Amino acid sequence: MSLFSAVEMAPRDPILGLTETFNADTRQYKVNLGVGVYYNEEGKIPLLRAVAEAEKARLETQGPRGYLPIEGVLTYDLAVQKMLFGQDSPLLDDGRVVTTQSLGGTGALKVGADFLKRLLPNSVVAISDPSWENHRALFESAGFPVKTYRYYNPQTYDVDRAGLLEDLQQLPPRSIIVLHACCHNPTGLDLNAEDWHQIIEVIKTCGHVPFVDIAYQGFGEGIEEDALAVRLFAQSGLSFLVSSSFSKSFSLYGERVGALTLVTQNADEAQRVRSQIKRVIRTNYSNPPTHGATVVANILKSPELRVLWEEELTSMRSRIQSMRLALVQALASRGAKQDFSFIARQRGMFSYSGLTAQQVERLRVEFGVYAISTGRICAAALNHKNLDYVADSIVKVL
Ligand code: PMP
Repeated sequence: MSLFSAVEMAPRDPILGLTETFNADTRQYKVNLGVGVYYNEEGKIPLLRAVAEAEKARLETQGPRGYLPIEGVLTYDLAVQKMLFGQDSPLLDDGRVVTTQSLGGTGALKVGADFLKRLLPNSVVAISDPSWENHRALFESAGFPVKTYRYYNPQTYDVDRAGLLEDLQQLPPRSIIVLHACCHNPTGLDLNAEDWHQIIEVIKTCGHVPFVDIAYQGFGEGIEEDALAVRLFAQSGLSFLVSSSFSKSFSLYGERVGALTLVTQNADEAQRVRSQIKRVIRTNYSNPPTHGATVVANILKSPELRVLWEEELTSMRSRIQSMRLALVQALASRGAKQDFSFIARQRGMFSYSGLTAQQVERLRVEFGVYAISTGRICAAALNHKNLDYVADSIVKVL
């Protein structure tokens, strides 16, 4: 028997698998709304001008390729902290915050999960129902049982606020609660300040551990506005974790630019936590890559490039919002039997369209319009060229 003869085939990633099927589809007209990336009006992943300029400058000045420190580019880590907590946060002055560069948001979640498993070996992790499909697998692979808390109410196309709070209260004390700071993936439904205050109260009472995932800062309402949840947790006095991803906001998917941040109670605690996080990284991939984080740090610290980047981020955000409105209008003007106005109230790249698995299947088979079977569509994959076709197709399957 050969070494690998008993290895079973792992299931295909549902979202990446859909793109493979889309690529193999030979129909002339097809639209992939199943993707998890921002496409511009031309249907392409943009290379931001701020990124191109920072890369050009870097090429001209780059030195030898040594290893980075375990925690990555230090100016980058500081820039991430300022984005999360604001320019003048007392937390930063007090030395209570630990940030390490990570391999995207996924890497931040994984390093955080491995660290927490050592600290709280008997805790349970709770993710929203539904959530980004990798959350469950990631925390399970770190050894945690993963439960869900209610989030989406399909009857109201809104957050099930009462259900969410009730479920958080019923979890065992010291549960790790994974929360989407903004642009909830997959529903596009976010929590408001009042919701966050209530969640923070429950978390305090139950002794839970918040792990805030912020993968779309700047895609919802704006850089500062989208940090609301992080800032409220910072004010709450709780200790918590944050995973940041800059894959979308800098359109740097393949460069794996993310960060793990931990807010501790004092500088001494922070030092000890930092030493343990470094140990997790060291025994995992040793130290992170240089390019993406250096580019992001250089953009954030250059006044000109920062302004340029903020303009580009604003235009990505506005384009998605205008495509949401255009889709709602296109469906209404075609006499859609349902009211789709909720799509315009959602934020970020994704939208729970309310389409059923059967309708999604018909969209693909009959019209070559690809979406996730849960009804998730990527609003950022819509553009003025494919909108009418998508709207025509949706109306036909309702
Ligand atoms: N968290 C959420 C909610 C996400 O949607 C994603 C990416 N789709 C990530 C984390 C991971 O980000 P990255 O690609 O930077 O690893």
